[in-house]
Amino acid sequence: MDLQGNIRVLARVRPVLEVERNSGQGTDVTEFPTEVELLVKRDEATRSAFEFDRVFPPSSTQEQVFEGVHPLIVSVLDGFDVAIFAYGQTGSGKTFTMEGDAANPGVNTRAMQTLFELGRQRSNDINYTFTLSVLEIYNESIYDLLSDSATTKGERGRGLDIRQGAAGIIVPGLAAVEVDSMEMVTAQLEQANKARAVGSHDMNEHSSRSHMIVCIHVNGVNAHNGAATRAKLNLIDLAGSERVGKTDASGDRLKEAQNINRSLSALGDVIAALATRSKGSHIPFRNSKLTYLLQDCLSGGGKTLMFCNVSPAAYNLGETICSLNFAARCR
Ligand code: ADP
Ligand code: MG
Repeated sequence: MDLQGNIRVLARVRPVLEVERNSGQGTDVTEFPTEVELLVKRDEATRSAFEFDRVFPPSSTQEQVFEGVHPLIVSVLDGFDVAIFAYGQTGSGKTFTMEGDAANPGVNTRAMQTLFELGRQRSNDINYTFTLSVLEIYNESIYDLLSDSATTKGERGRGLDIRQGAAGIIVPGLAAVEVDSMEMVTAQLEQANKARAVGSHDMNEHSSRSHMIVCIHVNGVNAHNGAATRAKLNLIDLAGSERVGKTDASGDRLKEAQNINRSLSALGDVIAALATRSKGSHIPFRNSKLTYLLQDCLSGGGKTLMFCNVSPAAYNLGETICSLNFAARCR
């Protein structure tokens, strides 16, 4: 597969929400001429056109969306490092896409189910083990959401470091829990969400300002010749991409916004550099914790998929265009 083929960008437009319709903010500005095109009406006379590897309209189910992800999950078992991102403004459907809800499980659940299922199917030939880590990047610090201290101390520590190890990027001290069933995964993710809320007054606000990363390490041992393979899958619910108004931010809020802008633009720079890569060009992985942590997935031997989540509503038009421009630059 050529390098370009290692980065896929999918757009997903959420439905107009009940509350939007009720408050008269239900005007829809999106059109879907084909499966890969998205038109955004700027006004009656002007439309902006975008093309992605796939565009999911509001009617798309979680199941249909996961079909676009499935090949990458197979790649993880074949030994590729994979990162799947949800990018977009707060309220655009990132968490719905990645986590979903009980009735509509999202990418995270379906990805892990698929890993377990395919692992079992291959178990005559390869013995797979899976370990789970969950972490958060907030204000350019990395926090372990599975370590006991995260919940018992009731406060956030200093944060963890990233190192370049012999076998790839590592976070020394990060908890990694072996899992072999969805029940175990669900229990760990519940604990992680509790730890994430620690020390924040408003969970929704906090989650829109930090990147949440679910990481599954896959180790495979060939039953016939003992050959070992190793890969990781990173599932990332990014911080909200909205631009914070210069007037309404100061102090901590401004610092948070600057850190988010910094890491999201670092991500855009890295992916854009990879997409247009010429030999020997420098890829600025170390410009942010996010890109440094995900370097193995983003670089040569890895595969990346980005969801660009957008709202269909006219009142979100500005942010929608910004998000789509960001994503278009990543192809
Ligand atoms: P974000 O994580 O980007 O801030 P959310 O995933 O929380 O956004 O979505 C905002 C709201 O829209 C939530 O109430 C969510 O349930 C709803 N929503 C998002 N995407 C969809 C979808 N595809 N279908 C139905 N509801 C959705
Ligand atoms: Mg969210």
